Amino acid sequence: MTILFASDLDQTLIYSRRTMGSGVSEEELREAERIDGKPHSFMTSKSQSALWNLDSSVCFLPVTTRTQTQYERVTGIYEGNERPRFAIVANGAVILENGEPIKEWSDDIRKRCVSRKTIIQELKPEIERYFTEDWVVSVREADDWFVYMILDREQFPEENMEFYQRTFREIGWSLSLQGRKLYFMPESITKAAAMEYVKKRIDATYVVAAGDSLLDMCLLENADLGLLPAHGEAVQSDSFSGHIEVTEKKGIKAGEEILEKVMSISREFE
Ligand SMILES: [Mg+2]
Repeated sequence: MTILFASDLDQTLIYSRRTMGSGVSEEELREAERIDGKPHSFMTSKSQSALWNLDSSVCFLPVTTRTQTQYERVTGIYEGNERPRFAIVANGAVILENGEPIKEWSDDIRKRCVSRKTIIQELKPEIERYFTEDWVVSVREADDWFVYMILDREQFPEENMEFYQRTFREIGWSLSLQGRKLYFMPESITKAAAMEYVKKRIDATYVVAAGDSLLDMCLLENADLGLLPAHGEAVQSDSFSGHIEVTEKKGIKAGEEILEKVMSISREFE
């Protein structure tokens, strides 16, 4: 039998210095990503070793909102050159198989976005209409799929989030606030749909999913077991299903806890 371990990366398995939290020593840190020649994201040595040595019955599927280029920087999640066979990037708009995008998948997503008018050209005027405040530092596009805004969180009125969520949902966009980034995601682009595709391809019988943001909630809801870090955006949701467990620890140690759980599940199924 095959267990699919579908996991978000940032603030779930890998952490920057800003998000890793306390209670971790310098010696425990292993580099997961390098930017401009400097280590940028980390895992603990325990997490890294658990991930590199998962039982052969477990298929690790990275599921990230990062673009392909941003994902390819994350080299600490696999040993040597043994990249995971599949990876979901751009929040599910792109599925990589052996490092190459599956064209038919992305073409299909593109068609859905065009028919529902959830394309960047349609979104831009709406953003300009609602976001003129000076706490909008910049607006960026991710490979023509979705938009994210860099915010000045000190100035950002978080109490308006509900209004923004509602307003943009009406025109087909989901919002997710993660640190300084506010994502605008077309409804047709979901981590869950892409995960289901990979699940079928590898004929997995059981899915464990992990993730910390609202963009991960569909992934967790569609899994047999969902693991939700005790920090982050999603844990504040009003309600989630009974098969979703919240970690006891926060920050980089929550990542460790998630991997321990995956290991114990693979042992149970042996
Ligand atoms: Mg995350």
